[in-house]
Amino acid sequence: MEFDYIICGGGSAGCVLAARLSQDPNLSVCLIEAGGMGRDILVRAPALVAAMVSGRPPIHNWAFHTVPQPGLNGRRGFQPRGKGLGGSSAINAMLYVRGHPSDYDGWAELGAEGWDWASVLPWFVTSEGNCRPGALHGADGPLQVADQLYPRPITRAFVRAMGDVQVPQSGDFNGETQDGAGLYQVTEFHSGPRKGERCSAAAAYLHPVLSRPNLTVLTRTRTEKITFEAKRATGVIVKRGLHRRTLKARAEVIVAQGTFGSPQLLMLSGIGPEDHLRAHGLPILHDLPGVGQNLADHLDYTVSHHSLRRDTVGLNPRGLLRLAKAGLHWRKTGEGLFASPMAEGGAFFRSAPELARPDLQVHFVVGIVDQHMRKLHAADGFSAHVCVLRPKSRGSVRLQSVDPAAPALIDPGFLSHPADLPVLMCGARVIEAMLESPEMAPWKGKRLYPHDGSDAGLEAAIRSHADTIYHPVGTARMGQDDMAVTDPALRVRGVQGLRVVDASVMPALIGGNTNAPTLMIAERAAAMIVAG
Ligand SMILES: Cc1cc2nc3c(=O)[nH]c(=O)nc-3n(C[C@H](O)[C@H](O)[C@H](O)COP(=O)(O)OP(=O)(O)OC[C@H]3O[C@@H](n4cnc5c(N)ncnc54)[C@H](O)[C@@H]3O)c2cc1C
Repeated sequence: MEFDYIICGGGSAGCVLAARLSQDPNLSVCLIEAGGMGRDILVRAPALVAAMVSGRPPIHNWAFHTVPQPGLNGRRGFQPRGKGLGGSSAINAMLYVRGHPSDYDGWAELGAEGWDWASVLPWFVTSEGNCRPGALHGADGPLQVADQLYPRPITRAFVRAMGDVQVPQSGDFNGETQDGAGLYQVTEFHSGPRKGERCSAAAAYLHPVLSRPNLTVLTRTRTEKITFEAKRATGVIVKRGLHRRTLKARAEVIVAQGTFGSPQLLMLSGIGPEDHLRAHGLPILHDLPGVGQNLADHLDYTVSHHSLRRDTVGLNPRGLLRLAKAGLHWRKTGEGLFASPMAEGGAFFRSAPELARPDLQVHFVVGIVDQHMRKLHAADGFSAHVCVLRPKSRGSVRLQSVDPAAPALIDPGFLSHPADLPVLMCGARVIEAMLESPEMAPWKGKRLYPHDGSDAGLEAAIRSHADTIYHPVGTARMGQDDMAVTDPALRVRGVQGLRVVDASVMPALIGGNTNAPTLMIAERAAAMIVAG
C-alpha cells in the first residue's frame, strides 16, 4: 500500500484534491475517509438535510459538541460536521457564497501571499458549473450551481420585507456587490438526470472518477497518526474496524480533515504547541504553537415564528403528508419542496452605513430551526437567522485525549471579544424589524422565545439561544509569522512532505458561507502540488 499522495479526509477539500491529482495517470493517489460513500438518498435529496443536521441519530455527521461557552451562559454548543465522502458538503445547506473580495485581500495582508481576490477568483470560476455563467462565474467546472426555481412564497415575501428595512434586492450575492437580499444560489444539479439533487464535493468531483486505476479510496477508514522519518512525512497509520495498517506516501501526505480533524491529526502526530503535547505525554516532532489556535466561527441568532399559512414546513400530520407528496414529486421531476435548501432566502447588510462592506448575513429558513433541529416542533413555521460575518472572538481546538477516536476539545470562544455582541444585537434588531413588515403579516404567528424588547432582554435571548451557523475555520492557518501553521503553499512549517488543505488554513473567516472558499482552496492547492 504505497502511493505518491495520501489525502487524509474525503470532505469538501479532500474530494477536489483526489480528483484533480489523479487526473495525471502517472500519479497514484489514496484518499482516506472515516465515513461511507456519501451518495444515499439522505445526501441526494436536498430537503433531507433536516434529518442529518441534528445528529440524532448521527447519520453522516460527527455531531461534535463544544466545551461550555461562558459567552453563552455556559452552554455547550453543537457542531455538526459531515462524515463520508463529500464531508460537510454532503450535509450542508448547499448555499453557494464566496464572501467579499476584500476578505481575500485581507488574507494576503495577513501573510497569505498570493491568496488575494485577483489571484483566487480564477479558482472559484474553475470549480463552478453555474447555470448563470458570466464575467464572474464559470460554466464548465464540476460544481453544479443552480438558481432556486421553486422558492416558497414566504421567501419572496422575506426578500420584499428586507426592502422595508432598507436592504434592497440582490440578484447575485457573488456578483459585483454583495449587499442586498435575495435567493441563494445552491450547489445542486440544475439539468440532466440528476436535476434537483444535491451536488456535494463528492458528487461533483469524486464519484465520477472512482474507476480511475491510479485512485484508491478507502472509506470507513480512520487516520490515527502521520508517520515520519526524521522530519519528513512518510505515510499514515489507519484503522478500519479492528485492523490497523501503515500506508506509505512517496511524495506527500495531505491533511484535509476539516477545522477540527486536521489540527487533531497534526497534534496526535507530534506537531503542535509543545506544552500541550507534553501534557498529553506525546513525543514532540515539531513545536508549532499555532496548531489548533485561531478558531473562528459564525455565531448565529435565530428568530422563529409559527406560520399562519400552511405553505412552510411543519412536523405535524398535514405537514408530513405534504413532505411525503413533495418527495414523490421530486423523485419524478427533481422539482418542488424536496429540492429546496430550506434556507432559501438571504441577505448581506451593514450594521453601520459608514462600513466598507456588509458585516451581517441573514439566512431565511422555511421551517422552525430550534437547536439545530435537535428540538422539534410540530407547528408549521419559519426562522430568520442572523450572524456576525467577521467576529473578533477566537477559540481553539485542543486534544482531549491521545485516543484518535476521542473527539477534540472544541472551544469557539463565542462572544469572548466584546465587539461581537453589539453587532449581533444590531443584526437581531434588523430582522425583528423586518418581521414587522406587512409583507410577513400573512404568515407571522406566535414567536418562539420572545424577549421583552429591551437591550438587556435581547442580550439575554442571544446568550440563551445563539450558536454556530457551521463555519468554523482557521485552526491551521496559513501565513508567514510564528503562529502560522502552513506557509502560503499550504506546506506545514518546519517539516517536509506534509500539507494541510481545507477550511482550517483560512487565516480569517470570510464574510459568507465557507464551502465554495474551501473548494477554491483545494483547486488552487492541487494545481500548486502538481506544479511542484
Ligand atoms: C450543517 C452544515 C451546514 C452548512 N451549510 C453551508 C452552506 O449552505 N454553504 C456553505 O458554503 N457552507 C456550509 N457549511 C460549511 C461547509 O460545508 C464547510 O465549511 C466545508 O464543507 C468544509 O470543508 P472541509 O474540507 O474543510 O471539511 P469537511 O468537508 O468537513 O471534510 C472533512 C472530512 O474529513 C473526514 N475525517 C475527519 N477526521 C477523519 C479521520 N480521523 N480519518 C478519516 N477521515 C476523517 C470527515 O469525515 C470529512 O469527510 C455547512 C456546514 C454544516 C456542517
